[in-house]
Parts: sequence; C-alpha cells; structure tokens
Amino acid sequence: MLVYIAGSGAMGCRFGYQISKTGNDVILLDNWEEHIKSIQENGLKITGDVEETVKLPIMKPTEATKEADLIILFTKAMQLPQMLQDIKGIIGSETKVLCLLNGLGHEEVIRQYIPEHNILMGVTVWTAGLEGPGHAHLQGVGALNLQSMDPENQEAGRQVADMLTEAKLFATYDENVLPNIWRKACVNGTMNSTCALLDCTIGELFASEDGPKMVKEIIHEFVIVGEAEGVSLNEEEIVKYVFDTSVKAAHHYPSMHQDLVQNHRLTEIDFINGAVNTKGAKLGIDTPYCRLITQLVHAKEEILKIK
Ligand code: NAD
Repeated sequence: MLVYIAGSGAMGCRFGYQISKTGNDVILLDNWEEHIKSIQENGLKITGDVEETVKLPIMKPTEATKEADLIILFTKAMQLPQMLQDIKGIIGSETKVLCLLNGLGHEEVIRQYIPEHNILMGVTVWTAGLEGPGHAHLQGVGALNLQSMDPENQEAGRQVADMLTEAKLFATYDENVLPNIWRKACVNGTMNSTCALLDCTIGELFASEDGPKMVKEIIHEFVIVGEAEGVSLNEEEIVKYVFDTSVKAAHHYPSMHQDLVQNHRLTEIDFINGAVNTKGAKLGIDTPYCRLITQLVHAKEEILKIK
C-alpha cells in the first residue's frame, strides 16, 4: 500500500514512522521548509519510548505525483482545505482518505474534494510532540476508531484498520464513529480552551471550585447540539469520561495551551467550541458557554497578534 501522510507534524510523524515499520510505503507531505530539509538530510529522529532515526521520503504536497492508496490527513483543522486542494494530484478513483483531526464537521469539508465512498472518518487518543524540525517525541500508548462514511464500503475501512493495527496503532473499525468523535471533542472543548484561557494545567482547572461546574455546562451544550444533529450522545457517560481523562492528564497543559500560550499559534477553537456554537445557532439552540469561550480565544489570538 502507498500511504501518504498529509501534514507530517507531530501526529503525522508518529503515524508515518509506525506505518513504515509494516513494509507499506510511506511518503510524508509537509510544507515546513526546515522540517523537510532536516528529514531529507538526516532522516526523521524519534525520541521518547523509542530512540531511532529513520529514512523516510518527505516532500511538499504539490510535488507528489504517484497515486495514493491511502492518505491520512493530519493538518490542524484550519489548514485542511488548503491541504485537500494541494493533494488533488495524488487522488485516484480508489484512493481512500482517512481523517483523524480533532474537532467537528471535517467530513463536510472533505466531501467537497473526495467522493463519499472513499472517505474514512476517525478519532484517535494517540498523542505526539515535535521537539524541532525533523524530530518527533513519542510517548505513551493510544488507539483509534474509524469508519467508512459510505456504509457500502465498510470493507475498505476494515482493511485500513487492519493495516494500522499491524503498525501497532491499534485501530478498531467502528460502526458508529460519530459519537466517539463528539466525545473526544468534549474533552478538547472542556479542557483545551479553558486551560489555555486560564493558563493552567488540567489538574488545576478541575481542582478549582468553578472548573468542574463549567466543564459540565460545556458538555451539556455539546450534547444538546449533537443530539439535535442526530448524533446519539450519553451525557452522563461523557461527563465520566472527561473527568476520568482529567485525572490521568492532571499534570498536562493541553495542546491548545501549547498553541496559544506557549507557541503563539492559531488554535482549532472554531472546530471545537466554535463548531458547537455555529451548529447550535443554525438549529436555534443557544450555547452561551461555547460562544463566550470561542470569543475569548479569538480575542486572545488577536491580542497576541497571531495570524
Ligand atoms: P502539527 O501542527 O504538529 O502538524 C501539522 C502539520 O501540517 C505541520 O507540520 C504543518 O506544516 C503541516 N501543514 C499544514 N498545512 C499544510 C499544507 N497545506 N501543506 C503542507 N503541510 C501542511 O499538528 P499535530 O499536533 O500533529 O495535530 C494534527 C491534528 O491531530 C490536529 O487536528 C490535532 O488536534 C490532532 N491531534 C493531535 C494530537 C497531538 O498529541 N499532537 C493528538 C490527537 C489529535
């Protein structure tokens, strides 16, 4: 199988590295010049649970020519449309495209570029970090769920799940992946945005008097909007999942904190709390917590002059 990783930052490097161990061909795509140069000259350096440097091809998306069997999307959410535009040249009639980005509504964007029967949607609890150009830091274990968007094309999704499991990425074919995508979005929508705004760890947020109350209000907004969209969500189970996750990740600053506070990068807020507020507005459902959080994060991006 020829697998392209479309967006080879932290997560793309993890997936590209692990899939390359299976004997499938992997090509990394990215447009970050120093990262490309470093990997081309020195290989991709992996540290953390394993220490290894691997030779992997990397190029800009517009330079790739061979038709893909599978493309795994791993840009940040707001970078997705440009990436989909730039990979048009490697998409054939049978190319499968798997989306594992955090956030909501990506399937609507992907449908504008890829026929439904080739789209696989998923969600992952794997994590990864970048130490610098050409250097990924991989720690911990994870898993992922995925589903073919076209129910007639389940077989393709199952084959991709098998290949990812062979790569020790532990993929499950999920006959109803959307609730799991929303559940992960609840984790991001409660901890990421609030810890970024409050400049605190997950543990500090949940130890505060108002933190857990706010978290429950945000989850409630996600649930009523998701349900109105036809996604079946169990609020009690999601609250438990988010609180359990907060205990395991108590010492962490979530990725939006890293983006906004530490690295002054644009956030994915429009695809998390912002998506719930936009969807809610269309459905006539008021989501004041998600709206305020989205506005505060955007205001902070502006104050920091992040573009
Ligand atoms: P990242 O910023 O490290 O990687 C994105 C990469 O895409 C960058 O290297 C960037 O240069 C590249 N890129 C963006 N647009 C491009 C374009 N048009 N052409 C070529 N290259 C382009 O981000 P990440 O942390 O790997 O996250 C990717 C997605 O996975 C996000 O949705 C994130 O929320 C999600 N996610 C991340 C983690 C994590 O631990 N990092 C965990 C789970 C999910």
